[in-house]
Amino acid sequence: MRRPFKKLLIANRGEIALRIIRACKELDIPTVAIFSQADRNALHVRFADEAVCVGPAPAVGSYLNMPAVLSAAQITGADAIHPGYGFLAENARFAEKVGRMGITFVGPSVEHLHTFGDKLSAKEAARTAGLPLLGGSTGAIDSVEDAMRVADATGYPVILKAAGGGGGKGMRVVEDEEALLRVFDVAQAESLAAFGSKDVFIEKYLRKPRHVEVQVAGDGRGGGIHVGTRDCSMQRRHQKIIEEAPAPFLSDSLRSRIEEAASSLIRSVGYRTVATCEFLVEGEGFYFLEVNPRIQVEHPATEEVYGVDLIQEQIRLAAGEDLSIEQSAIVAQGHAIEIRVNAEDPRTFLPSPGLITGYHEPGGPGVRIDSAVHEHAIVQPFYDSLAAKLIVRGRDREHAIRRVLHAIDEFVVEGIKTTLPLQRELLCTPEFQEGRHYTRFVDEWLASRV
Ligand code: ADP
Repeated sequence: MRRPFKKLLIANRGEIALRIIRACKELDIPTVAIFSQADRNALHVRFADEAVCVGPAPAVGSYLNMPAVLSAAQITGADAIHPGYGFLAENARFAEKVGRMGITFVGPSVEHLHTFGDKLSAKEAARTAGLPLLGGSTGAIDSVEDAMRVADATGYPVILKAAGGGGGKGMRVVEDEEALLRVFDVAQAESLAAFGSKDVFIEKYLRKPRHVEVQVAGDGRGGGIHVGTRDCSMQRRHQKIIEEAPAPFLSDSLRSRIEEAASSLIRSVGYRTVATCEFLVEGEGFYFLEVNPRIQVEHPATEEVYGVDLIQEQIRLAAGEDLSIEQSAIVAQGHAIEIRVNAEDPRTFLPSPGLITGYHEPGGPGVRIDSAVHEHAIVQPFYDSLAAKLIVRGRDREHAIRRVLHAIDEFVVEGIKTTLPLQRELLCTPEFQEGRHYTRFVDEWLASRV
C-alpha cells in the first residue's frame, strides 16, 4: 500500500487526536502529536510516534499558537497536518500558512474554508446549487430599518444570526418588532466582539424542527458522495448531546432528497475531503443551514452504521486520491447512537474538571468508545469538556436505545461529574423514543423540571 503521507502532525488533543492516530496506524503513516504543558501525560502524546510541546496550558499559547504548531511540523518533517475539530480546524489563515510551507492541510481548500466559514457565503453557495433555504435576508443587514423590513416580509418569529458564528453561539430568536428594535445593535456588537465581523442576518425561525445533517466527501475534482444522514436534534442550547445515524423518522423520499442536495452542493463547488451539510427539517420540508468543512464530533455514528472509516478517507482525499467508496455501497446497517460524555455537572452544566479516580468503560457487541481519559487521568479545565464518546450500534433504533442504556449503566466515571445521568433520562423519554423530539426539546424538558 502506498502511504498518502510520509508523516502527519495532529494539531489537536483528546479523543480526536487518538482517533486520528489510529487511522494513521492503519494507513502506515507515522504521527507527530503536539501537546501543551498540561497535556504532558495525555494518551495522544503516548500513542503518537513523536510528540512536541507547543506551549503552556491555555489553548491560545499552545493548540491555537500557529507559529508553534507550524514549527513543530517543520522540525519533525511532517508533510501533512490534521487539525481535527475545533482549535485551528476551520481557520483559513492557518490552512494558508500550512500550504505555503509545502505541507498538506488535511481539509478543504483555503477558498472553501472561506466560503463555508461564513454562513452567508455558505448560503449563497447553497442557493447557487439549488438547495432549499429558509426565508430571510440574502446578505448581511446593515441597519435596524433594514432588519425590520426583512423581518416583516419573512414573518415573525425570526432568528438573528452572526455570519461568522458557530458552536451554537451568535444566535438570537426574535419574536416581534419590539424585540428586534431592542436586540439588533447588541447582536451586531456581540458579533463583532466574538467573531471579528459585525455581519448579522435574518432567517425564518422554525419552532419545532429537527436537525438533520448529511455526511459528505468530495475528491476536489467535482466528484462527491454522501455517507447518509444523522439526526442531532437532542441539543442543549444549540449544542448537540445525543446523535444518531441514520436520521430516523424521515420518509424515504425526504431522506433521498436531503442526501442528494448535500452531495450536489459538494460536487458543485468541487469540495475536497469530508464535510457535513446541516439542515433543518419540518414536516416534509428541509432547509439548508450551513456546511461544517471538517470532521465532526459525531462522525463515529456514521462510521458504525455505514462501515466507512471517515478519517482514513479524509486523509486519502487530502493527498489527492480518488474516493475509495462508491455511492451504491453506502447502505445503512442498523442504527447507531452517540452519546457525548461531557465532564460537566448534569444539572448545572458547569464544567467538572479534575482527577478521575475510577473508570470503567462498557463493552460487548456493538459498543465503541472513543475516549482519551482513563483512571488517574486529569480532565483539564483549559479545554472543551468532552471526555469521551459512547457509540452504540443496534439492529434497529429500538435495539440501539436498549443497548446504549445498558452501556451507560456499565460506564463508571468517578471523581468528576459527567452528563451521562442526564442523557440516560433523555433516552427514556417517550418524546425521544417515539420521535416527537425537536431541537428545543431538551431545553424545554429541562425547564419543565425546575
Ligand atoms: P452553529 O454554526 O452555531 O452550529 P447553526 O446554524 O448550525 O449554528 O444552528 C445550530 C442550531 O441552532 C440548529 O441545530 C438549531 O437547533 C438552531 N437553529 C439555527 N437556525 C435555526 C432556525 N432558523 N430555526 C430554528 N432553529 C434554528
